[in-house]
Amino acid sequence: MSALVHTHAAILSIGDELVRGQTLDTNSRLISARLMDLGIETIEHATVGDDLDALVGAIRRLSSRAPLVVATGGLGPTDDDLTRDALAAVLGDQLVEDSDALAQLTERLRSRGRDVSAAQRMQALRPATARCLRNDFGTAPGLAARVRVDGGQADVFCLPGPPGELVPMWERSVVPLLRPQPGLTIRTRFIKLIGIPEAEAAARVPGIMARDANPQVGITASGGILTWRIRYRGTLAPDAAEAEVERVARRITDAMGEHVFAHGEVSLAAAVLDTLKARGQMLATVESCTGGLLGAQITAVPGSSAAFAGGFVTYTNALKQSQVGVREQTLAAHGAVSAACAREMAAGGLERSGADWCVSITGIAGPDGGSAEKPVGTVHVGLARRAGDGGPVEARRFLIPGRRDDVRERAAMSALAMLWFALRGGDPPARLLWEQ
Ligand code: AMP
Ligand code: MG
Repeated sequence: MSALVHTHAAILSIGDELVRGQTLDTNSRLISARLMDLGIETIEHATVGDDLDALVGAIRRLSSRAPLVVATGGLGPTDDDLTRDALAAVLGDQLVEDSDALAQLTERLRSRGRDVSAAQRMQALRPATARCLRNDFGTAPGLAARVRVDGGQADVFCLPGPPGELVPMWERSVVPLLRPQPGLTIRTRFIKLIGIPEAEAAARVPGIMARDANPQVGITASGGILTWRIRYRGTLAPDAAEAEVERVARRITDAMGEHVFAHGEVSLAAAVLDTLKARGQMLATVESCTGGLLGAQITAVPGSSAAFAGGFVTYTNALKQSQVGVREQTLAAHGAVSAACAREMAAGGLERSGADWCVSITGIAGPDGGSAEKPVGTVHVGLARRAGDGGPVEARRFLIPGRRDDVRERAAMSALAMLWFALRGGDPPARLLWEQ
C-alpha cells in the first residue's frame, strides 16, 4: 500500500444518540485537536445515525474529500452497530474473522470469567482488506483500511465511540500510522487571561491578528476566560519555529500584564492552587448558591490537596449559622444574599478550617427568588485571609447575567478571580468579563 500524505482529514461520528441530541459529540473535537497538533487540518465534521446507507454514503463522500478519514462509534456487538458492514460495503469486501482479534477477545472475556457470545464474536470480524486495531480497554477492535472512490482515496480509521477506548487507541494505534506533510513544523502556544475584555486585550497589541501572519494569532472568550492562541505552521526548523512563537508570546504577555494567569492549557483553579502551593498556604471555601461547584473545580486539579483544606456547603440560613457562624442579626438585617453575610461566611470558614485564605459565595442563581433590590444573578463573593496577609475581610457584589447554570458557573469563576488578584496583592479589575 503506497503511503498517502495526510494533508487534511475528515471526521465521521456515528450513532443515533448523536444525531438525536442525547449525546454530545466530543470525539470530533478531541480528534481535530490532536490532528491540529500534528499539522493535519480537519476540513469537515460529519455525523450520521445508525443507518447503513447513510454510513456507506458518508464514508464514500468523505474519502473523496480528504486523504484521512477518522470514524468513531458503531463498532459494538449489537444490531445497531453497523460501521463494520458499512466499511465492507464501501470496500466491496466480505467480512472475515480475524484470528488475532478473536484470540484477544476470548482472552479478555475469559480473564473476567466469561465466554464469547455469538454477538460478541461479531466484533472479531473485519472487511477482508482491512486490518484490526487492538483495543486494550474494550471488546471492539478498531479497523483500518485504504478506501478508493471516484475522485480519490483515503486511509479510513474506525474507532470505538466511548472516549475511554478511543483515546488510548488513537495514541497507540493511529498516531504512528499518520503521515503529516513532511518537513512541516507546528508549534502552538496558549496564553490565558482573566479580568480583561476581549476588545481591550486585542487593542493592546494592534495588528497581531493579521490573517496572513505566521505565527498566526487568535483570541477566544469562553466562560469568563480569554485565551490567546499562537500557532506557527511552516517549514522552519523546530528551534527557529519555537523562537518565532516565543517572540509573539512575549509581546502578548508584556501587554497583558497581571491578567495573564497561565501559559498553556491550565484552568484558573489550577493557577490559583499553584500560587498557594508556592507560598505554602491553604485555601477553604464556603458556598451557598454554587452548592460545591467551586470545591469541585478546585479538586478537579490533580494535587489540589496540597493547597485546598476543604469546603463548607451552607445552603440554608441554619447551616450558615451552625457551620460557619454567620450571625442571626446579620441574616435578619441584610438577608443571606448580602455583602455582610458573604464576609461572615468567609471569616467563619477561615477560622473553622484553619486555612490561610477562605472564599465564600452567596447569591441568587434563579430562575426564581429575585427581587427589584436583589435581581437574579446577584452574587456576593467574600474573601478572608490570615492576618499576616493583611486587610480586613472583603466582599464584592457581582451582577451576573444568564441562566441558572451560567450564574453558578460564573459565580465560581468570580471567586477564583477575586482570589487570583488578591494573591497578587492587587484589587480585582473593576469589571470581570461577564459584567460588561
Ligand atoms: P458505540 O461505539 O457506537 O457503541 O458507542 C458507544 C458509546 O460511546 C455511546 O453510547 C456514547 O456514549 C459514546 N460515544 C459514541 N460516539 C461518541 C462521540 N462522537 N462523542 C462522545 N461520545 C461518543
Ligand atoms: Mg453506537
